[in-house]
Amino acid sequence: MSADRYDLVVVGGGVIGLGAAYAGLRRGMRTLVVERGSEATGASVRNFGHLCVTPQTGIARQHGLAARELWLRLAHDAGVWLRESGTLVAARAADELAVLVELAAVRGDEVRLLDAAEAAVRIPLAPGVAVGGAFLPADLQANPRQALQAITSHLAEQGVEFRFRTSVGAIEPGLVRTSRGPVGAQHVVVATNHDVDQLFPEVAEGLGIVRCGLDMLRVAAPLAAPLEAPLLTGWSLLRYGAFAETSAAAALRDRLHAERPDLAALDLNQMYTQLPDGSLIVGDTHYRGAAIAPFQGEAAADALLEEFRALFGVEPRVLERWQGVYASGPDEFLDLEALPGVHLAAATTGIGMTTGLGLADHVVARFTSPIDHEPPIDHEPQPRHHQEGMR
Ligand SMILES: Cc1cc2nc3c(=O)[nH]c(=O)nc-3n(C[C@H](O)[C@H](O)[C@H](O)COP(=O)(O)OP(=O)(O)OC[C@H]3O[C@@H](n4cnc5c(N)ncnc54)[C@H](O)[C@@H]3O)c2cc1C
Repeated sequence: MSADRYDLVVVGGGVIGLGAAYAGLRRGMRTLVVERGSEATGASVRNFGHLCVTPQTGIARQHGLAARELWLRLAHDAGVWLRESGTLVAARAADELAVLVELAAVRGDEVRLLDAAEAAVRIPLAPGVAVGGAFLPADLQANPRQALQAITSHLAEQGVEFRFRTSVGAIEPGLVRTSRGPVGAQHVVVATNHDVDQLFPEVAEGLGIVRCGLDMLRVAAPLAAPLEAPLLTGWSLLRYGAFAETSAAAALRDRLHAERPDLAALDLNQMYTQLPDGSLIVGDTHYRGAAIAPFQGEAAADALLEEFRALFGVEPRVLERWQGVYASGPDEFLDLEALPGVHLAAATTGIGMTTGLGLADHVVARFTSPIDHEPPIDHEPQPRHHQEGMR
């Protein structure tokens, strides 16, 4: 059987697959993306769009910093809506502030502390809720639904080929078997997120990669002022590496878990982003297993809405509810060559929007020549990206 032949075939059209295709394009590779959906509908369009580089550590920080540059490039070149917003953190208790103070002491200007009065001015919380907070100026915000569409269109315009509604069933060195026939490939990047457990079940099982399900909402609410940046809370300080590694984090965990075992059982990361149309993404909860039940109980949504009321002091109106799923494992990333020329790439914790473009570039750079010439990144996204209305 004859097969089309590409320098690079990418399986999966989420942010990591598109990142791999972008990396191939920038290095002059003939590139094909095979995506089983008619568009991206996975984790990459279901998230907060929070590009949360500052609290990452180790390899996640490296991928996050590389991804930050690529997001800025795509904002300029591909019309991706991007805010150089930073991140706001609201501290509602002294032990939350203690984590921020400890991190600020080592990270300097990357973590700017806010006192109670500054937090009250910058974050539209209910009166008296915050004892302080922090601003992390380097972080960014994207609108996931717009971003994936814009990057896909840009890559297609630049010559990357896409086969949508096309499923990959098996991969061998040099050959990708799709539901529309075989495709020859010098290199393959498999960016199928949790579905890596279907194409490479032994690899996923061997590395302890399972699935993580999350509950999310989009709401309308009369906040006292717009949310100028993605907003984290004390619960977020238990999750992201640099916060969680502070010595103050242990006491915070003990206190939050003792006071709110119901929220701890939901594995809550209470956080918010505001979209250009003013609606707010509200999340999230986490549950892990080999399979994720398709039925979302209302307990999670009830808790998310109750915490929203307590934090902002206003009544939210639910516009949308959805479930997200991502690969979850003991390491932060899946990055290995499973077969000669077949590279598996996934974020195996919930930071793939922040780091995924960097991970994908790192994977592709390993098997190709360096980029010939590239103009410097314009660090100012076009103003229109800040103003465009979104649904
Ligand atoms: C609710 C939620 C909130 C999150 N919030 C954030 C956040 O604010 N910041 C952050 O950094 N990260 C966040 N994350 C994590 C981030 O969204 C993911 O890590 C990232 O989107 C994963 O990208 P991906 O390309 O690997 O996966 P996906 O976007 O899921 O893409 C995988 C694609 O592969 C396709 N596919 C699978 N199998 C096949 C096959 N056999 N053949 C063809 N196509 C196939 C699928 O259809 C899918 O489109 C969040 C995740 C969720 C779920």
